[in-house]
Amino acid sequence: MRPFRIRLTLILMVMIGISMAGAGLTMARVFEKSHISALEENMIREIQLLSRTFDFRPTQGGDAMAYYTREARELAALTDSRVTFISKNGTVIGDSESDPRQMDNHGGREEIVDAARKGSGYAIRHSSTLKEDMLYVAVPVVAGDYDGFIRLSVSLAFVDQGVRKGWTLMAGGLAILFVVAAVVSYRVAAGLTSPLEKITRVAGRISKLDYDARVSITRKDEIGELAKAINGMADSLQNQLQTIRDNENLLQSVLDNMTTGILLVNPEGTVALINPAAERMLHLKGGQLTGRSVTEMKQYYELTRLIQDGIGQRDFIHEERIVYQPEETILQLDGVPMFGEDDRFKGMLFLLQNITAIRRLENMRSEFVANVSHELKTPVAAVKGFAETLLGGGVKDEETARSFLQIIYDESERLNRLISDILDLSKIESRRSPMDYAPVHLASFCGSIIDTMATVAEKKRIALHADIPEELFIEADEDKLRQILLNLLSNAVSYTQDGGKVELKVRELQDAEGTEKVVIKVTDTGIGIPKKDQPRIFERFYRVDKARSRSSGGTGLGLSIVKHLVELHHGDISVDSELGIGTTFTVELPMLQE
Ligand code: ADP
Repeated sequence: MRPFRIRLTLILMVMIGISMAGAGLTMARVFEKSHISALEENMIREIQLLSRTFDFRPTQGGDAMAYYTREARELAALTDSRVTFISKNGTVIGDSESDPRQMDNHGGREEIVDAARKGSGYAIRHSSTLKEDMLYVAVPVVAGDYDGFIRLSVSLAFVDQGVRKGWTLMAGGLAILFVVAAVVSYRVAAGLTSPLEKITRVAGRISKLDYDARVSITRKDEIGELAKAINGMADSLQNQLQTIRDNENLLQSVLDNMTTGILLVNPEGTVALINPAAERMLHLKGGQLTGRSVTEMKQYYELTRLIQDGIGQRDFIHEERIVYQPEETILQLDGVPMFGEDDRFKGMLFLLQNITAIRRLENMRSEFVANVSHELKTPVAAVKGFAETLLGGGVKDEETARSFLQIIYDESERLNRLISDILDLSKIESRRSPMDYAPVHLASFCGSIIDTMATVAEKKRIALHADIPEELFIEADEDKLRQILLNLLSNAVSYTQDGGKVELKVRELQDAEGTEKVVIKVTDTGIGIPKKDQPRIFERFYRVDKARSRSSGGTGLGLSIVKHLVELHHGDISVDSELGIGTTFTVELPMLQE
Protein backbone atom coordinates (compact mmCIF):
# COMPACT_ATOMS: atom_id res chain seq x y z
CA MET A 1 0.00 0.00 0.00
CA ARG A 2 2.50 2.54 1.17
CA PRO A 3 5.58 0.35 1.29
CA PHE A 4 8.02 3.22 1.50
CA ARG A 5 6.32 4.80 4.49
CA ILE A 6 6.08 1.43 6.26
CA ARG A 7 9.65 0.56 5.38
CA LEU A 8 10.91 3.88 6.60
CA THR A 9 8.97 3.47 9.84
CA LEU A 10 10.40 -0.02 10.29
CA ILE A 11 13.93 1.15 9.59
CA LEU A 12 13.57 3.97 12.08
CA MET A 13 12.12 1.60 14.66
CA VAL A 14 14.82 -0.99 14.14
CA MET A 15 17.42 1.72 14.56
CA ILE A 16 15.73 3.04 17.68
CA GLY A 17 15.26 -0.52 18.94
CA ILE A 18 18.94 -1.35 18.43
CA SER A 19 20.13 1.78 20.16
CA MET A 20 17.65 1.30 22.97
CA ALA A 21 18.72 -2.33 23.39
CA GLY A 22 22.35 -1.20 23.35
CA ALA A 23 21.66 1.48 25.93
CA GLY A 24 19.66 -0.98 28.00
CA LEU A 25 22.42 -3.57 27.99
CA THR A 26 25.06 -1.00 28.86
CA MET A 27 22.88 0.31 31.65
CA ALA A 28 22.31 -3.21 32.93
CA ARG A 29 26.05 -3.82 32.92
CA VAL A 30 26.74 -0.61 34.75
CA PHE A 31 23.93 -1.37 37.14
CA GLU A 32 25.22 -4.84 37.77
CA LYS A 33 28.77 -3.68 38.19
CA SER A 34 27.91 -0.90 40.56
CA HIS A 35 25.66 -3.24 42.47
CA ILE A 36 28.48 -5.74 42.81
CA SER A 37 31.04 -3.13 43.75
CA ALA A 38 28.66 -1.70 46.34
CA LEU A 39 28.26 -5.21 47.67
CA GLU A 40 32.01 -5.65 47.72
CA GLU A 41 32.50 -2.45 49.65
CA ASN A 42 29.83 -3.47 52.12
CA MET A 43 31.45 -6.82 52.56
CA ILE A 44 34.88 -5.23 53.06
CA ARG A 45 33.35 -2.96 55.68
CA GLU A 46 31.70 -5.94 57.34
CA ILE A 47 35.03 -7.79 57.44
CA GLN A 48 36.76 -4.74 58.84
CA LEU A 49 34.03 -4.44 61.47
CA LEU A 50 34.45 -8.10 62.23
CA SER A 51 38.20 -7.79 62.54
CA ARG A 52 37.69 -5.14 65.19
CA THR A 53 34.99 -6.84 67.19
CA PHE A 54 35.63 -10.51 66.80
CA ASP A 55 37.13 -12.50 69.52
CA PHE A 56 40.08 -14.08 67.86
CA ARG A 57 41.37 -17.17 69.42
CA PRO A 58 44.60 -18.96 68.64
CA THR A 59 44.39 -20.60 65.33
CA GLN A 60 46.42 -23.57 66.37
CA GLY A 61 45.17 -26.22 68.64
CA GLY A 62 42.62 -28.95 68.71
CA ASP A 63 39.48 -26.96 69.09
CA ALA A 64 40.55 -23.95 67.05
CA MET A 65 38.94 -25.30 63.95
CA ALA A 66 35.75 -26.15 65.83
CA TYR A 67 35.61 -22.69 67.35
CA TYR A 68 36.10 -20.88 64.07
CA THR A 69 33.67 -23.10 62.32
CA ARG A 70 31.02 -22.44 64.90
CA GLU A 71 31.68 -18.73 64.87
CA ALA A 72 31.63 -18.71 61.12
CA ARG A 73 28.22 -20.33 61.20
CA GLU A 74 26.89 -17.75 63.63
CA LEU A 75 28.30 -14.86 61.69
CA ALA A 76 26.94 -16.32 58.51
CA ALA A 77 23.47 -16.40 60.01
CA LEU A 78 23.88 -12.73 61.03
CA THR A 79 25.37 -11.40 57.80
CA ASP A 80 23.48 -13.57 55.47
CA SER A 81 26.65 -14.63 53.78
CA ARG A 82 29.17 -17.41 53.83
CA VAL A 83 32.03 -16.73 56.22
CA THR A 84 35.43 -18.37 55.91
CA PHE A 85 38.45 -17.96 58.13
CA ILE A 86 41.68 -18.69 56.26
CA SER A 87 45.15 -18.71 57.73
CA LYS A 88 48.03 -16.89 56.10
CA ASN A 89 49.26 -20.02 54.38
CA GLY A 90 45.87 -20.64 52.89
CA THR A 91 44.58 -23.33 55.23
CA VAL A 92 40.90 -23.00 55.94
CA ILE A 93 40.39 -22.71 59.70
CA GLY A 94 36.64 -22.32 59.71
CA ASP A 95 33.82 -22.16 57.25
CA SER A 96 30.16 -21.60 57.67
CA GLU A 97 29.13 -24.01 54.96
CA SER A 98 31.44 -27.02 55.04
CA ASP A 99 34.00 -28.81 57.03
CA PRO A 100 37.37 -27.03 56.82
CA ARG A 101 39.22 -30.27 57.02
CA GLN A 102 37.78 -31.35 53.79
CA MET A 103 38.52 -28.10 52.10
CA ASP A 104 41.70 -27.70 50.10
CA ASN A 105 44.22 -24.95 50.53
CA HIS A 106 42.77 -21.58 49.58
CA GLY A 107 46.13 -19.74 49.31
CA GLY A 108 45.94 -19.80 45.53
CA ARG A 109 42.36 -18.42 45.26
CA GLU A 110 42.20 -15.25 43.31
CA GLU A 111 40.59 -13.19 46.11
CA ILE A 112 43.17 -14.39 48.62
CA VAL A 113 46.11 -13.65 46.34
CA ASP A 114 44.70 -10.17 45.64
CA ALA A 115 43.96 -9.55 49.36
CA ALA A 116 47.53 -10.49 50.30
CA ARG A 117 48.86 -8.18 47.67
CA LYS A 118 46.46 -5.19 47.71
CA GLY A 119 44.75 -5.28 51.10
CA SER A 120 41.50 -6.61 49.70
CA GLY A 121 40.53 -8.97 46.96
CA TYR A 122 37.46 -10.28 45.31
CA ALA A 123 36.41 -12.79 42.74
CA ILE A 124 33.30 -14.16 41.17
CA ARG A 125 33.21 -17.87 40.71
CA HIS A 126 30.97 -20.80 40.48
CA SER A 127 31.10 -22.55 43.74
CA SER A 128 31.28 -26.28 43.39
CA THR A 129 30.22 -26.58 47.06
CA LEU A 130 27.08 -24.48 46.73
CA LYS A 131 26.53 -24.94 42.98
CA GLU A 132 25.92 -21.29 42.26
CA ASP A 133 27.78 -18.15 41.22
CA MET A 134 29.32 -16.54 44.23
CA LEU A 135 31.03 -13.23 45.00
CA TYR A 136 34.03 -13.74 47.19
CA VAL A 137 35.60 -10.86 49.15
CA ALA A 138 38.70 -11.39 51.26
CA VAL A 139 40.58 -9.01 53.53
CA PRO A 140 43.80 -9.82 55.47
CA VAL A 141 43.21 -9.58 59.19
CA VAL A 142 45.86 -9.46 61.87
CA ALA A 143 44.42 -9.33 65.36
CA GLY A 144 45.94 -10.91 68.43
CA ASP A 145 46.80 -14.47 67.61
CA TYR A 146 45.05 -14.31 64.30
CA ASP A 147 47.02 -13.65 61.18
CA GLY A 148 45.13 -14.65 58.11
CA PHE A 149 42.15 -13.69 56.01
CA ILE A 150 38.50 -13.34 56.58
CA ARG A 151 36.51 -14.10 53.54
CA LEU A 152 32.85 -13.32 53.01
CA SER A 153 30.97 -14.64 50.05
CA VAL A 154 27.45 -14.09 48.93
CA SER A 155 25.41 -15.77 46.31
CA LEU A 156 25.12 -13.68 43.20
CA ALA A 157 21.58 -14.87 42.98
CA PHE A 158 20.71 -11.81 45.02
CA VAL A 159 22.54 -9.58 42.68
CA ASP A 160 20.90 -11.29 39.74
CA GLN A 161 17.55 -10.76 41.37
CA GLY A 162 18.27 -7.05 41.75
CA VAL A 163 19.55 -6.84 38.25
CA ARG A 164 16.49 -8.67 36.99
CA LYS A 165 14.22 -6.29 38.85
CA GLY A 166 16.17 -3.42 37.34
CA TRP A 167 15.83 -5.09 33.97
CA THR A 168 12.09 -5.49 34.31
CA LEU A 169 11.69 -1.84 35.22
CA MET A 170 13.93 -0.77 32.42
CA ALA A 171 12.25 -3.08 29.93
CA GLY A 172 8.87 -1.58 30.85
CA GLY A 173 10.24 1.90 30.42
CA LEU A 174 11.91 0.93 27.22
CA ALA A 175 8.72 -0.66 25.91
CA ILE A 176 6.79 2.55 26.54
CA LEU A 177 9.61 4.51 24.97
CA PHE A 178 9.56 2.11 22.02
CA VAL A 179 5.85 2.66 21.46
CA VAL A 180 6.37 6.40 21.60
CA ALA A 181 9.31 6.01 19.23
CA ALA A 182 7.15 3.96 16.86
CA VAL A 183 4.50 6.69 16.76
CA VAL A 184 7.13 9.36 16.28
CA SER A 185 8.87 7.30 13.60
CA TYR A 186 5.59 6.83 11.76
CA ARG A 187 4.97 10.55 11.96
CA VAL A 188 8.45 11.34 10.71
CA ALA A 189 8.10 8.79 7.90
CA ALA A 190 4.69 10.18 6.99
CA GLY A 191 6.12 13.69 7.00
CA LEU A 192 8.75 12.50 4.57
CA THR A 193 6.59 10.31 2.38
CA SER A 194 3.22 12.12 2.26
CA PRO A 195 4.46 14.89 -0.08
CA LEU A 196 5.97 12.16 -2.24
CA GLU A 197 2.64 10.35 -2.22
CA LYS A 198 0.89 13.60 -3.18
CA ILE A 199 3.32 14.09 -6.04
CA THR A 200 2.84 10.47 -7.11
CA ARG A 201 -0.93 10.92 -7.12
CA VAL A 202 -0.68 14.05 -9.26
CA ALA A 203 1.76 12.37 -11.64
CA GLY A 204 -0.70 9.48 -11.91
CA ARG A 205 -3.54 11.87 -12.77
CA ILE A 206 -1.39 13.61 -15.37
CA SER A 207 -0.54 10.28 -16.95
CA LYS A 208 -4.29 9.65 -17.15
CA LEU A 209 -4.59 12.84 -19.25
CA ASP A 210 -5.90 15.02 -16.41
CA TYR A 211 -3.66 17.96 -17.22
CA ASP A 212 -5.35 20.24 -14.69
CA ALA A 213 -3.79 18.29 -11.82
CA ARG A 214 -1.23 20.31 -9.85
CA VAL A 215 0.84 19.59 -6.72
CA SER A 216 0.01 22.04 -3.91
CA ILE A 217 3.35 21.94 -2.16
CA THR A 218 5.28 25.16 -1.64
CA ARG A 219 8.29 23.92 0.24
CA LYS A 220 11.75 25.28 -0.36
CA ASP A 221 13.56 21.92 -0.17
CA GLU A 222 14.19 19.18 -2.70
CA ILE A 223 10.60 17.93 -2.45
CA GLY A 224 9.40 21.47 -3.19
CA GLU A 225 11.69 21.49 -6.22
CA LEU A 226 10.26 18.15 -7.35
CA ALA A 227 6.71 19.49 -6.95
CA LYS A 228 7.65 22.58 -8.92
CA ALA A 229 9.19 20.43 -11.65
CA ILE A 230 6.05 18.25 -11.84
CA ASN A 231 3.81 21.35 -12.03
CA GLY A 232 6.08 22.81 -14.69
CA MET A 233 5.82 19.59 -16.64
CA ALA A 234 2.02 19.64 -16.36
CA ASP A 235 1.97 23.31 -17.51
CA SER A 236 4.09 22.53 -20.51
CA LEU A 237 2.02 19.43 -21.34
CA GLN A 238 -1.16 21.48 -21.06
CA ASN A 239 0.26 24.19 -23.32
CA GLN A 240 1.44 21.69 -25.86
CA LEU A 241 -1.89 19.93 -25.78
CA GLN A 242 -3.68 23.24 -26.25
CA THR A 243 -1.47 24.01 -29.24
CA ILE A 244 -2.16 20.59 -30.67
CA ARG A 245 -5.89 21.04 -30.07
CA ASP A 246 -5.84 24.51 -31.63
CA ASN A 247 -4.05 23.18 -34.68
CA GLU A 248 -6.43 20.27 -34.87
CA ASN A 249 -9.43 22.60 -34.64
CA LEU A 250 -7.95 24.86 -37.26
CA LEU A 251 -7.33 21.95 -39.57
CA GLN A 252 -10.77 20.55 -38.85
CA SER A 253 -12.50 23.84 -39.58
CA VAL A 254 -10.48 24.21 -42.79
CA LEU A 255 -11.58 20.72 -43.80
CA ASP A 256 -15.18 21.37 -42.72
CA ASN A 257 -15.52 24.66 -44.50
CA MET A 258 -13.74 23.79 -47.72
CA THR A 259 -15.93 23.73 -50.78
CA THR A 260 -13.60 21.17 -52.32
CA GLY A 261 -14.32 17.63 -51.29
CA ILE A 262 -11.47 15.76 -49.65
CA LEU A 263 -11.23 12.01 -49.53
CA LEU A 264 -8.25 10.24 -48.02
CA VAL A 265 -8.08 6.57 -48.89
CA ASN A 266 -5.41 4.30 -47.41
CA PRO A 267 -3.63 1.58 -49.41
CA GLU A 268 -6.21 -1.03 -48.35
CA GLY A 269 -8.96 1.02 -49.93
CA THR A 270 -10.61 2.19 -46.71
CA VAL A 271 -11.59 5.78 -46.22
CA ALA A 272 -9.36 7.40 -43.61
CA LEU A 273 -10.88 10.86 -43.90
CA ILE A 274 -13.75 12.50 -45.70
CA ASN A 275 -14.81 16.10 -45.28
CA PRO A 276 -18.39 17.45 -45.27
CA ALA A 277 -18.04 18.89 -48.78
CA ALA A 278 -17.21 15.44 -50.17
CA GLU A 279 -20.07 13.92 -48.20
CA ARG A 280 -22.45 16.50 -49.62
CA MET A 281 -21.26 15.83 -53.18
CA LEU A 282 -21.68 12.09 -52.75
CA HIS A 283 -24.93 12.45 -50.78
CA LEU A 284 -23.53 10.55 -47.81
CA LYS A 285 -24.48 10.98 -44.18
CA GLY A 286 -21.83 12.46 -41.85
CA GLY A 287 -19.17 9.87 -40.98
CA GLN A 288 -21.04 7.16 -42.86
CA LEU A 289 -18.04 6.17 -44.95
CA THR A 290 -15.18 6.85 -42.52
CA GLY A 291 -13.23 3.67 -41.81
CA ARG A 292 -15.10 1.76 -44.49
CA SER A 293 -14.14 0.52 -47.90
CA VAL A 294 -14.77 2.83 -50.85
CA THR A 295 -16.49 -0.07 -52.58
CA GLU A 296 -19.41 0.47 -50.21
CA MET A 297 -20.41 3.38 -52.45
CA LYS A 298 -22.06 0.94 -54.82
CA GLN A 299 -24.15 3.67 -56.42
CA TYR A 300 -20.97 5.30 -57.74
CA TYR A 301 -19.42 2.38 -59.54
CA GLU A 302 -17.41 4.50 -62.00
CA LEU A 303 -16.06 6.67 -59.23
CA THR A 304 -15.03 3.84 -56.93
CA ARG A 305 -13.30 2.10 -59.82
CA LEU A 306 -11.35 5.23 -60.54
CA ILE A 307 -10.33 5.49 -56.89
CA GLN A 308 -9.28 1.84 -56.80
CA ASP A 309 -7.30 2.24 -60.01
CA GLY A 310 -5.55 5.24 -58.49
CA ILE A 311 -4.57 3.25 -55.41
CA GLY A 312 -3.42 0.37 -57.58
CA GLN A 313 -1.25 2.55 -59.81
CA ARG A 314 -0.08 4.97 -57.11
CA ASP A 315 -0.12 7.71 -59.67
CA PHE A 316 -1.68 11.12 -60.17
CA ILE A 317 -5.24 11.19 -61.46
CA HIS A 318 -7.14 13.97 -63.14
CA GLU A 319 -10.49 12.76 -64.38
CA GLU A 320 -14.12 13.74 -64.69
CA ARG A 321 -17.01 11.44 -63.99
CA ILE A 322 -20.73 11.90 -64.23
CA VAL A 323 -22.68 10.53 -61.29
CA TYR A 324 -26.44 10.14 -61.40
CA GLN A 325 -27.35 9.80 -57.73
CA PRO A 326 -29.77 11.46 -57.18
CA GLU A 327 -29.34 13.99 -59.98
CA GLU A 328 -26.82 14.25 -62.75
CA THR A 329 -23.65 15.75 -61.34
CA ILE A 330 -20.29 16.16 -63.00
CA LEU A 331 -17.47 15.50 -60.56
CA GLN A 332 -13.84 16.26 -61.16
CA LEU A 333 -11.53 13.90 -59.34
CA ASP A 334 -7.89 14.76 -58.68
CA GLY A 335 -5.86 12.02 -57.05
CA VAL A 336 -2.48 12.56 -55.44
CA PRO A 337 -0.47 9.57 -54.16
CA MET A 338 0.98 10.10 -50.71
CA PHE A 339 4.28 8.69 -49.55
CA GLY A 340 5.71 8.60 -46.02
CA GLU A 341 9.23 9.53 -44.98
CA ASP A 342 10.58 6.09 -45.85
CA ASP A 343 8.90 6.26 -49.28
CA ARG A 344 6.20 3.96 -48.03
CA PHE A 345 2.91 4.35 -49.90
CA LYS A 346 0.40 5.82 -47.47
CA GLY A 347 -2.60 6.07 -49.70
CA MET A 348 -4.19 8.54 -52.05
CA LEU A 349 -5.62 11.97 -51.41
CA PHE A 350 -8.56 12.72 -53.67
CA LEU A 351 -9.95 16.18 -54.30
CA LEU A 352 -13.55 16.21 -55.47
CA GLN A 353 -15.07 19.17 -57.21
CA ASN A 354 -18.59 19.58 -58.43
CA ILE A 355 -18.03 21.11 -61.85
CA THR A 356 -21.61 20.70 -63.03
CA ALA A 357 -22.24 24.45 -62.93
CA ILE A 358 -18.97 25.22 -64.68
CA ARG A 359 -19.71 22.72 -67.42
CA ARG A 360 -23.28 24.00 -67.69
CA LEU A 361 -22.00 27.56 -68.01
CA GLU A 362 -19.52 26.47 -70.64
CA ASN A 363 -22.36 24.79 -72.50
CA MET A 364 -24.45 27.90 -72.17
CA ARG A 365 -21.61 30.00 -73.52
CA SER A 366 -21.13 27.88 -76.57
CA GLU A 367 -24.90 27.69 -77.03
CA PHE A 368 -25.03 31.45 -76.76
CA VAL A 369 -22.31 31.86 -79.35
CA ALA A 370 -24.21 29.49 -81.64
CA ASN A 371 -27.44 31.41 -81.05
CA VAL A 372 -25.79 34.77 -81.62
CA SER A 373 -24.21 33.55 -84.84
CA HIS A 374 -27.53 32.19 -85.93
CA GLU A 375 -29.35 35.43 -85.07
CA LEU A 376 -26.73 37.49 -86.86
CA LYS A 377 -26.75 35.29 -89.90
CA THR A 378 -30.39 35.99 -90.82
CA PRO A 379 -30.16 39.78 -91.21
CA VAL A 380 -26.69 39.54 -92.77
CA ALA A 381 -28.02 37.03 -95.33
CA ALA A 382 -30.93 39.39 -96.12
CA VAL A 383 -28.64 42.41 -96.48
CA LYS A 384 -26.25 40.42 -98.64
CA GLY A 385 -29.00 38.91 -100.81
CA PHE A 386 -30.78 42.17 -101.56
CA ALA A 387 -27.49 44.04 -102.09
CA GLU A 388 -26.35 41.35 -104.56
CA THR A 389 -29.63 41.55 -106.45
CA LEU A 390 -29.30 45.31 -106.68
CA LEU A 391 -25.66 45.09 -107.72
CA GLY A 392 -26.55 42.48 -110.37
CA GLY A 393 -28.52 45.26 -112.09
CA GLY A 394 -31.60 43.08 -112.52
CA VAL A 395 -33.89 45.51 -110.73
CA LYS A 396 -34.83 48.21 -113.17
CA ASP A 397 -37.77 49.93 -111.66
CA GLU A 398 -36.98 52.44 -108.98
CA GLU A 399 -39.75 51.49 -106.61
CA THR A 400 -38.58 47.89 -106.24
CA ALA A 401 -35.03 49.09 -105.86
CA ARG A 402 -36.14 51.48 -103.09
CA SER A 403 -38.06 48.78 -101.29
CA PHE A 404 -34.96 46.55 -101.49
CA LEU A 405 -32.86 49.32 -100.03
CA GLN A 406 -35.48 49.82 -97.30
CA ILE A 407 -35.18 46.13 -96.42
CA ILE A 408 -31.40 46.42 -96.37
CA TYR A 409 -31.74 49.45 -94.09
CA ASP A 410 -34.23 47.72 -91.76
CA GLU A 411 -32.13 44.60 -91.53
CA SER A 412 -28.98 46.55 -90.78
CA GLU A 413 -30.97 48.45 -88.12
CA ARG A 414 -31.99 45.14 -86.59
CA LEU A 415 -28.40 43.96 -86.79
CA ASN A 416 -27.37 47.11 -84.99
CA ARG A 417 -29.98 46.57 -82.26
CA LEU A 418 -29.03 42.97 -81.91
CA ILE A 419 -25.38 43.80 -81.51
CA SER A 420 -26.03 46.55 -79.00
CA ASP A 421 -28.38 44.24 -77.02
CA ILE A 422 -25.73 41.54 -76.99
CA LEU A 423 -23.14 44.03 -75.83
CA ASP A 424 -25.51 45.29 -73.13
CA LEU A 425 -26.22 41.80 -71.94
CA SER A 426 -22.60 40.77 -71.81
CA LYS A 427 -21.74 43.97 -69.99
CA ILE A 428 -24.46 43.33 -67.42
CA GLU A 429 -23.62 39.66 -67.03
CA SER A 430 -19.95 40.27 -66.52
CA ARG A 431 -20.87 43.05 -64.04
CA ARG A 432 -18.54 45.45 -65.73
CA SER A 433 -20.84 48.41 -65.24
CA PRO A 434 -21.04 49.24 -61.54
CA MET A 435 -24.33 50.32 -60.04
CA ASP A 436 -24.68 54.06 -59.75
CA TYR A 437 -27.40 54.48 -57.15
CA ALA A 438 -29.20 57.79 -56.71
CA PRO A 439 -32.65 58.88 -55.52
CA VAL A 440 -35.08 58.88 -58.43
CA HIS A 441 -38.32 60.86 -58.30
CA LEU A 442 -40.60 58.31 -59.89
CA ALA A 443 -43.41 60.62 -61.08
CA SER A 444 -41.18 62.84 -63.22
CA PHE A 445 -38.93 59.93 -64.23
CA CYS A 446 -41.85 57.80 -65.50
CA GLY A 447 -43.38 60.88 -67.12
CA SER A 448 -40.35 61.33 -69.34
CA ILE A 449 -40.39 57.63 -70.28
CA ILE A 450 -44.07 57.83 -71.23
CA ASP A 451 -43.20 60.83 -73.39
CA THR A 452 -40.50 58.83 -75.15
CA MET A 453 -42.95 56.02 -75.86
CA ALA A 454 -45.80 58.31 -76.90
CA THR A 455 -44.93 58.51 -80.58
CA VAL A 456 -44.66 54.74 -81.02
CA ALA A 457 -47.92 54.24 -79.14
CA GLU A 458 -49.70 56.92 -81.12
CA LYS A 459 -48.70 55.20 -84.34
CA LYS A 460 -50.63 52.12 -83.18
CA ARG A 461 -53.34 54.24 -81.57
CA ILE A 462 -52.55 52.68 -78.25
CA ALA A 463 -53.63 54.56 -75.16
CA LEU A 464 -50.68 54.99 -72.82
CA HIS A 465 -51.56 55.60 -69.17
CA ALA A 466 -49.40 56.34 -66.16
CA ASP A 467 -50.55 56.06 -62.54
CA ILE A 468 -47.74 57.18 -60.26
CA PRO A 469 -47.95 58.64 -56.73
CA GLU A 470 -46.54 62.15 -56.68
CA GLU A 471 -44.27 61.87 -53.65
CA LEU A 472 -42.56 58.56 -54.36
CA PHE A 473 -38.80 58.19 -54.62
CA ILE A 474 -36.62 55.16 -55.17
CA GLU A 475 -32.91 54.60 -54.82
CA ALA A 476 -31.83 53.15 -58.16
CA ASP A 477 -29.41 53.33 -61.06
CA GLU A 478 -31.39 55.71 -63.27
CA ASP A 479 -30.08 54.49 -66.65
CA LYS A 480 -30.69 50.87 -65.78
CA LEU A 481 -34.14 51.59 -64.38
CA ARG A 482 -34.97 53.48 -67.57
CA GLN A 483 -33.89 50.52 -69.66
CA ILE A 484 -36.12 48.21 -67.59
CA LEU A 485 -39.18 50.37 -68.12
CA LEU A 486 -38.48 51.09 -71.80
CA ASN A 487 -38.04 47.41 -72.59
CA LEU A 488 -41.24 46.42 -70.77
CA LEU A 489 -43.26 49.28 -72.29
CA SER A 490 -42.00 48.72 -75.82
CA ASN A 491 -42.82 45.00 -75.50
CA ALA A 492 -46.28 45.95 -74.26
CA VAL A 493 -46.81 48.28 -77.22
CA SER A 494 -45.32 45.78 -79.67
CA TYR A 495 -47.44 42.86 -78.55
CA THR A 496 -50.70 44.79 -78.37
CA GLN A 497 -53.00 45.23 -81.29
CA ASP A 498 -53.84 48.64 -82.61
CA GLY A 499 -56.29 50.48 -80.41
CA GLY A 500 -55.26 48.63 -77.27
CA LYS A 501 -54.27 49.98 -73.87
CA VAL A 502 -50.98 50.04 -71.99
CA GLU A 503 -50.68 51.20 -68.41
CA LEU A 504 -47.70 51.93 -66.18
CA LYS A 505 -48.65 51.80 -62.52
CA VAL A 506 -46.33 52.41 -59.57
CA ARG A 507 -47.19 51.68 -55.92
CA GLU A 508 -45.45 51.66 -52.57
CA LEU A 509 -45.54 48.45 -50.52
CA GLN A 510 -44.22 47.03 -47.25
CA ASP A 511 -43.40 43.34 -47.35
CA ALA A 512 -43.79 40.78 -44.54
CA GLU A 513 -40.35 41.66 -43.11
CA GLY A 514 -41.17 45.36 -43.05
CA THR A 515 -38.97 46.30 -46.02
CA GLU A 516 -40.18 49.27 -48.05
CA LYS A 517 -40.66 48.36 -51.68
CA VAL A 518 -41.72 49.94 -54.92
CA VAL A 519 -43.98 47.86 -57.16
CA ILE A 520 -44.02 48.69 -60.86
CA LYS A 521 -46.68 47.11 -63.05
CA VAL A 522 -46.74 47.28 -66.85
CA THR A 523 -50.09 46.08 -68.10
CA ASP A 524 -51.30 45.71 -71.66
CA THR A 525 -54.40 44.42 -73.39
CA GLY A 526 -52.32 42.57 -75.96
CA ILE A 527 -52.02 39.09 -77.35
CA GLY A 528 -50.78 37.53 -74.10
CA ILE A 529 -48.24 34.80 -73.54
CA PRO A 530 -49.17 31.09 -73.48
CA LYS A 531 -48.78 29.50 -69.99
CA LYS A 532 -46.18 27.02 -71.20
CA ASP A 533 -43.95 29.79 -72.51
CA GLN A 534 -44.17 32.01 -69.47
CA PRO A 535 -41.33 30.39 -67.53
CA ARG A 536 -38.99 30.70 -70.51
CA ILE A 537 -39.54 34.21 -71.81
CA PHE A 538 -36.67 35.58 -69.68
CA GLU A 539 -34.18 33.29 -71.42
CA ARG A 540 -31.92 34.75 -74.04
CA PHE A 541 -33.24 34.62 -77.60
CA TYR A 542 -36.44 32.99 -76.42
CA ARG A 543 -39.42 34.12 -78.37
CA VAL A 544 -42.96 32.85 -78.24
CA ASP A 545 -43.53 33.46 -81.92
CA LYS A 546 -40.39 34.02 -83.94
CA ALA A 547 -42.13 35.52 -86.93
CA ARG A 548 -44.14 37.98 -84.90
CA SER A 549 -41.13 38.97 -82.81
CA ARG A 550 -39.10 39.56 -85.90
CA SER A 551 -41.81 41.64 -87.51
CA SER A 552 -41.95 43.72 -84.33
CA GLY A 553 -38.21 44.19 -84.56
CA GLY A 554 -37.51 42.18 -81.38
CA THR A 555 -34.18 40.54 -80.67
CA GLY A 556 -35.34 38.04 -78.06
CA LEU A 557 -32.94 39.64 -75.57
CA GLY A 558 -35.11 42.39 -74.10
CA LEU A 559 -36.60 40.44 -71.18
CA SER A 560 -33.36 38.73 -70.25
CA ILE A 561 -31.74 42.15 -70.05
CA VAL A 562 -34.67 43.33 -67.89
CA LYS A 563 -34.35 40.35 -65.58
CA HIS A 564 -30.64 40.94 -65.11
CA LEU A 565 -31.14 44.63 -64.40
CA VAL A 566 -33.90 43.93 -61.88
CA GLU A 567 -31.63 41.45 -60.13
CA LEU A 568 -28.83 43.99 -60.03
CA HIS A 569 -31.28 46.17 -58.07
CA HIS A 570 -31.96 43.22 -55.74
CA GLY A 571 -35.51 43.04 -57.01
CA ASP A 572 -37.89 40.48 -58.53
CA ILE A 573 -39.80 40.24 -61.76
CA SER A 574 -42.82 38.13 -62.53
CA VAL A 575 -45.31 37.78 -65.34
CA ASP A 576 -49.03 37.24 -65.33
CA SER A 577 -50.64 36.80 -68.69
CA GLU A 578 -53.71 35.44 -70.39
CA LEU A 579 -53.77 34.62 -74.05
CA GLY A 580 -55.78 37.13 -76.04
CA ILE A 581 -56.56 39.27 -72.99
CA GLY A 582 -53.32 40.81 -71.92
CA THR A 583 -50.15 40.68 -69.94
CA THR A 584 -48.88 42.24 -66.73
CA PHE A 585 -45.21 42.36 -65.81
CA THR A 586 -44.65 43.11 -62.11
CA VAL A 587 -41.32 44.42 -60.92
CA GLU A 588 -40.66 44.69 -57.19
CA LEU A 589 -37.66 46.76 -56.18
CA PRO A 590 -36.42 47.66 -52.71
CA MET A 591 -36.99 51.37 -52.07
CA LEU A 592 -33.52 51.70 -50.55
CA GLN A 593 -30.36 49.82 -51.47
CA GLU A 594 -28.25 48.57 -48.58
P1 ADP B 1 -38.31 40.37 -78.09
O1 ADP B 1 -37.21 41.20 -78.45
O2 ADP B 1 -38.61 39.27 -79.03
O3 ADP B 1 -39.51 41.11 -77.67
P2 ADP B 1 -38.12 39.85 -75.34
O4 ADP B 1 -37.06 39.13 -74.58
O5 ADP B 1 -38.38 41.23 -75.02
O6 ADP B 1 -37.82 39.60 -76.86
O7 ADP B 1 -39.44 39.00 -75.15
C1 ADP B 1 -39.43 37.63 -75.27
C2 ADP B 1 -40.74 37.12 -75.80
O8 ADP B 1 -41.76 37.29 -74.83
C3 ADP B 1 -41.22 37.87 -76.95
O9 ADP B 1 -40.73 37.34 -78.14
C4 ADP B 1 -42.72 37.74 -76.87
O10 ADP B 1 -43.11 36.59 -77.52
C5 ADP B 1 -42.97 37.61 -75.40
N1 ADP B 1 -43.46 38.88 -74.84
C6 ADP B 1 -42.74 39.80 -74.18
N2 ADP B 1 -43.52 40.80 -73.74
C7 ADP B 1 -44.78 40.50 -74.10
C8 ADP B 1 -46.05 41.15 -73.93
N3 ADP B 1 -46.18 42.32 -73.29
N4 ADP B 1 -47.16 40.57 -74.47
C9 ADP B 1 -47.04 39.38 -75.10
N5 ADP B 1 -45.86 38.72 -75.30
C10 ADP B 1 -44.74 39.29 -74.80
